Formats: sequence, structure tokens, C-alpha cells
Amino acid sequence: MKNDKKGLLGKIGEFGVIDLIQKKVPVKKDVIKGIGDDCAVLPFNGDKYFLITTDMLVEGVHFDPLDKMESVGYKALGVNISDIAAMGGVSKFAVVSIGLTPETSCRTVQDLYRGINDLARKFGISIVGGDTVLSKIFTINITLTGEVEKKFLVVRSGAKPGDKIFVTGPLGNSLRSKKHLTFYPRQNEIRKLVHQYSLSSMIDISDGLLGDVGHILEQSHVGAVIDAHKIPLALGASLSQALYDGEDFELIFTVSAMSAQKLLTDQRNKCFYIGEIVEAKKGLHLRLKDGTLKNVKAKGYQHF
Ligand code: ADP
Ligand code: MG
Repeated sequence: MKNDKKGLLGKIGEFGVIDLIQKKVPVKKDVIKGIGDDCAVLPFNGDKYFLITTDMLVEGVHFDPLDKMESVGYKALGVNISDIAAMGGVSKFAVVSIGLTPETSCRTVQDLYRGINDLARKFGISIVGGDTVLSKIFTINITLTGEVEKKFLVVRSGAKPGDKIFVTGPLGNSLRSKKHLTFYPRQNEIRKLVHQYSLSSMIDISDGLLGDVGHILEQSHVGAVIDAHKIPLALGASLSQALYDGEDFELIFTVSAMSAQKLLTDQRNKCFYIGEIVEAKKGLHLRLKDGTLKNVKAKGYQHF
């Protein structure tokens, strides 16, 4: 499917398909945020919201058949924790659905769950159910719930001109370096930040820096200037890989200029300033070291 450019899906892209779905699905008034952010945000209790997110991994698309099953399990839960973190929340309960081929061994399933359980224990997540079916290729889908104090909720749509843009770690080359299978989701770092600062918007990097910054710009109705030389590069990564590669699972967030100054002087926060939010009409630009601005597209990895 990844390389199949034929047909409707090839023409309208992953986000075209999601738009198509979004227009038709029923959504009642009690939904605080439905399709369009890293998690859905739902009513919970007096001072908290309920969060829910889901992600599916398919053999040959999100991992290689030769990758260790333990790492695949670890990644399958990790990508969901990253989405809960991207709302400022804490992960709680997960259900795990697996599609197994007739050749799958007991050992494979045990290895898979060793990876899932390892990360679940580290984040205090309970695995509370799932589904097991026969499939032509190995697939795993995890749905994770979480909660967030109402005052700490961070969505994609709150960035304002003048805000500064930060990223939580080095970017690029994630597939080749296998970071996409070994990353430690940034939930703890973000929880510390939301207690100290008011983050105006946030997203995790699954599609690539520019593509995911693009989602913040679109939903916040703003533009951005990214300082190319400030982007932290992962070991062996080029600038282009840092801009366009996906699956870094670092978080991009924005804060007011005043908070940004405090953040930068506090060495305990290991995050990197990478640019600033501007008015929508200014679009998206890369600023090179000599100050020249280069207009760039907010494109990232898309499944179709
Ligand atoms: P993420 O990379 O954060 O997991 P995606 O880019 O996969 O997010 O999805 C973007 C938004 O579209 C999310 O809010 C997600 O829940 C929603 N979405 C994706 N696929 C579907 C679908 N098949 N039906 C309904 N909503 C979907
Ligand atoms: Mg996400």
C-alpha cells in the first residue's frame, strides 16, 4: 500500500482519506476533541479529561520482518505513549490487537509481549484486553487511554504569532539508526514541562519535522520560521533527514517568548529552540545561518 500510487487513495493522500472520514462520522456534543489531534479528548471528571489514541503497525511498513519482535512490541506501545504525551497527559490502560499469520510461533508472541510489558511497566500502564486474529501479514494495533488535568491539556491549535518553537531531542535518520524501535517516549519530560510552563501547542513527530510543524500551523492558523542551524541533528543525520524523515517520536511544542527565555536558562529542560511562530500570511520558511529565508512546504511522510 505504501508505494501504491494508483486509485483514489494515491490521489488524495493519507490526510485526504482522514478528511473524507471526518466529514461523515457522527460526533456528539460531549466530544471535546475528536479526529484531528494526537488523541481524542473526552469528558472525564471535575478537573481531568479522558484521552484515547490508537496506532497500528504493519510488517514491512512500520517494521522489517527481520526486526526483533521485542522491539516491535516496544514500538507499538511507545508510539501511543508518545501521542498521550503530546496532549500533556499520563498513559493509563491499553488493549492490544494482533493479526498473526499461520506461521507465527509462540516464541514470537512471547517476544512481542516482552517488549510491550517492559514499556508498560516503565510507564505504569495496565494491559487490559485486546483481540487475536488470523492475518496474511503480521499486524499489531494498540489503543491506549490516558488522562490529563484540564489546565495542562495541550492541543495542536493554540500556537500564536511570537511564540517560540522547541523540540525535545535530536532528529533524523530514525529508521536507519533504529531509533524508531528504541525511542523512550517523552511523557515524563512533558509532564515536568506542563507543571512549570503554559505550552501553547504540541504534536509528536511521526511524519517528519516540517510535516508535523505543518499540522500545528494549519490548526493554529499561523506560519513559522524554522532556524535551520538550530535543529538538533541525530548522530549521522543530515539537515534534510531531520526536516523530512519521520518516526523520531520527539515532541514539538510552542511557548510564549517569555516562557521560552526561562526554558532556555533552565538547564534541567533538555529541549532545543528551533524557531518561531509568525502570522499565517507569512507561511513556512527555513532561516539559514546567514539570515536568508527559504520558502518550504509543510510536507512529511504520507502513507499513500
Ligand atoms: P498520529 O500520527 O498522531 O497517530 P495520525 O496522523 O495517524 O495521528 O492521524 C491524525 C488524526 O486522524 C488523529 O486524530 C487520528 O485519530 C485520526 N484518524 C486517522 N485515521 C483515522 C480513521 N481511519 N478514522 C478516524 N480517524 C482517524
Ligand atoms: Mg501523534
